[in-house]
Amino acid sequence: MNLHEYQGKEILASFGVRIQRGIVAQNAKEAVEAAKQLTAETGTGWHVIKAQVHAGGRGKGGGVKLAKNLKEVEEIANQIIGMNLITPQTSAEGKKVHQVLVAEDVYYPGESETSEFYMSVVLNRATGKNMIMYSTEGGMDIEEVAESTPHLIFTEEIDPATGLLGFQARKIAFNLGLSGTAFKEMTKFVASLYKAYVESDSNMFEINPVLKTSDDLIMAVDAKVSIDDNALYRRKQYADMRDLREENAIEVEAREVGLNYVDLDGNVGCMVNGAGLAMATMDLIKMAGGEPANFLDVGGTADAKRVEEAFRIILKDPNVKAILINIFGGIVRCDRVAQGVVDAYKNMGDSMKVPIIVRLQGTNAELAKEIIDNSGLAVQSAVQFQEAADKVKAVLA
Ligand code: GDP
Ligand code: MN
Repeated sequence: MNLHEYQGKEILASFGVRIQRGIVAQNAKEAVEAAKQLTAETGTGWHVIKAQVHAGGRGKGGGVKLAKNLKEVEEIANQIIGMNLITPQTSAEGKKVHQVLVAEDVYYPGESETSEFYMSVVLNRATGKNMIMYSTEGGMDIEEVAESTPHLIFTEEIDPATGLLGFQARKIAFNLGLSGTAFKEMTKFVASLYKAYVESDSNMFEINPVLKTSDDLIMAVDAKVSIDDNALYRRKQYADMRDLREENAIEVEAREVGLNYVDLDGNVGCMVNGAGLAMATMDLIKMAGGEPANFLDVGGTADAKRVEEAFRIILKDPNVKAILINIFGGIVRCDRVAQGVVDAYKNMGDSMKVPIIVRLQGTNAELAKEIIDNSGLAVQSAVQFQEAADKVKAVLA
């Protein structure tokens, strides 16, 4: 589950990570109030107004702007809230902005230069360890840095059994070229960031930029946080941060009926039991010249009710031209699934507009094929994987 920048910063702050302070606002009036409050608390007269959407690269798309007085706060907030923000990380249509973060300007002049670093904490599945990735090249596209100057990205692996060790935090501060106050600040920053990552059950914490201010403080200016969905049951305070407006509407509905669904760009809807078979089925569709419209794992129960729910979810995607059902009957009997498909199809009435290819293998597969073939519906059966692919190809032609 992805979070907004302001939510990620709230979590960081709760673990003692220094952050660029800010207040979230739903409209220009609230933005002005937020700016006044920040001025009272921090003394800053300048503010950055930051679009809150689940996508990075907001600065490039015009979603992050500096306001030098309250009038500009109002103007910029009016301009950003309601806009369709297009960034390198959104689709071509962009994302609608519902709220902004009004933050203190932390790029003020002072004794020393400001510097922007990159830092993230992620799980390295290959080594089974957590990994801190960091770079002196912060503020910009890290993908670009990785491509053109990969030697400027460092990694530090952390054994979850021992946790982050003191020397590792010092090594990071050293590699970032810091000394004195900034060095000490960075070791504290790294330790608190790592603690936040572990104790919030996150998949990812990405802070770009981490800022060294002109008075040598180290703080998070941005925060991209993703919490492990499987841990949300024990992290109620984070589960409540979910913003459904930011998520794919069909995926949200699918989750409500307990279906494991991921929306994709293609034209062939898939209904499969088991994630592995679903992946193989998507490959099959591609080999047949189609593109999967979704990933859908219906799980262990594939009765009429569930098949119908799955049909309805799949058909919400207007690009779907055919549906391929690929079910392996191990515990669930194929004839029951076949009957479920037939019943669901009938219940759908006129809303079922696309051809269906069903491949059922496993217990009572022959009986299942008979049920499908004798149904009198526009449902084709297939026994072999290749046969299913050929039939998909034929209906797409
Ligand atoms: P992103 O573009 O979605 O990654 O959003 P960020 O939160 O990283 O902000 C984009 C850029 O805005 C940063 O890289 C900074 O250069 C700039 N920025 C952020 N906060 C401030 C600030 O307080 N003052 C100034 N002048 N610039 C800021
Ligand atoms: Mn950023």
